[in-house]
Amino acid sequence: MDEQARTNAALFERAQRVIPGGVNSPVRSFASVGGTPYCVAMGRGSTVTDVEGRRYLDYVQSYGASILGHGDPRVVTAISEAAARGATFGAPTEGEVLLAEAIVERVPGVDKVRLVSSGTEATMTAIRLARGYTERSLIVKFDGCYHGHSDALLASAGSGVASLGISGSAGVPAAAVSETLVVPYNVVPELTREVAAVIVEPVAANMGLVLPVEGFLEGLRAECDRVGALLIFDEVITGFRVARGGAIEYFGVRPDLVTYGKVIGGGLPIGALAGKAEVMEALAPSGPVYQAGTLSGNPLATAAGRTVLELLDAEAYEMLRGRASQLSNELVKVIREAGVAVQVPHFSSLLGIFFGDSVVTNYAEARDSVELGLYPAFFHGMLDRGIALAPGPYEVLFPSLAHTPAEIERTIDVASAVAHGLMDKSVTLG
Ligand SMILES: *Cc1c(COP(=O)(O)O)cnc(C)c1O
Repeated sequence: MDEQARTNAALFERAQRVIPGGVNSPVRSFASVGGTPYCVAMGRGSTVTDVEGRRYLDYVQSYGASILGHGDPRVVTAISEAAARGATFGAPTEGEVLLAEAIVERVPGVDKVRLVSSGTEATMTAIRLARGYTERSLIVKFDGCYHGHSDALLASAGSGVASLGISGSAGVPAAAVSETLVVPYNVVPELTREVAAVIVEPVAANMGLVLPVEGFLEGLRAECDRVGALLIFDEVITGFRVARGGAIEYFGVRPDLVTYGKVIGGGLPIGALAGKAEVMEALAPSGPVYQAGTLSGNPLATAAGRTVLELLDAEAYEMLRGRASQLSNELVKVIREAGVAVQVPHFSSLLGIFFGDSVVTNYAEARDSVELGLYPAFFHGMLDRGIALAPGPYEVLFPSLAHTPAEIERTIDVASAVAHGLMDKSVTLG
């Protein structure tokens, strides 16, 4: 390829000709912040380098799939050794057993695991399984929680406080979401005996970072028990990130089913659905609920995932927590010192940035913060100075194990400068 074509702008231009919107997942587009996406040539540890040779300190980390940082040599070795033995067979492999055992061993109350190829597949299957097992149809989801892009879960809240979902996308017919009830996060809904399952992100990380209020998860458990509905924790982000046993271990609340993705693939495509034996056994071939996958339990993905889980010891979690809490505490301080109202909630290694004065507890409040319109300028200010945040205001930051204390310091200094710039801008505009 000629050198001239290897610029971000030229590649994005070519991408737009052959890929819808120029990206293979809409979160990668710069639609909500403006500008042209940088095209990554390589990643190493905490950084990514784009095709123009610009290096960024990376807080996207594949939206949480890379918890060790990019290109960890131990993961690279595991993947290449697995690849040399053959990429996929259509027959069982030892790697699947080992990864399932690693999950069962870490998560209290989980007996069995079904491996799939994405988080979307995991949640879609969890819903089907819950419906098949309970022989009920209704599912309850929380406004602002993301569970992948299967039809039944692409439901938005209607105008009421608790409403039947309306289609969250063109192409999702009303019928597909007519049995999905969408309710506000952090309020325990009153359920009926028609509800098959309640699905929830135990810590919401797709509307910025929103923590569960005291008693919320326990309340969901009790309400599900009262009516015989299943409780599903979607731990595609929180799983093996917020603690060795994920949010289940951290909060001590046991769902009937739990879904995983991201971290457990070490950067390769994977998802998993896990839970109590009795419910899980309803899956084919032992039970009547059909589910399948040509690449499910792929040898490369299970090798990468198992390597990552083994490396996540107590010290690793301690380090991740320390970095995130330092980042959160200092960011709040320097951004407020610049005269910009902000909240920087953190939970274990996750953190979010909400501009504005109020603490955010649900999606409506997250939207109010986003509507202040400060994120795009903050994002570009950081990016111009070599720090990559996600190009959307509803995403969280993912500091990895590869982020050094010096890099955290640099992030804080840069954020301070950018926040002062935001104020200058609003003064000029005002
Ligand atoms: C990313 C995500 C999903 C979807 O996972 P994919 O692998 O992108 O299909 C589901 N649930 C949550 C909470 C997620 O963050």
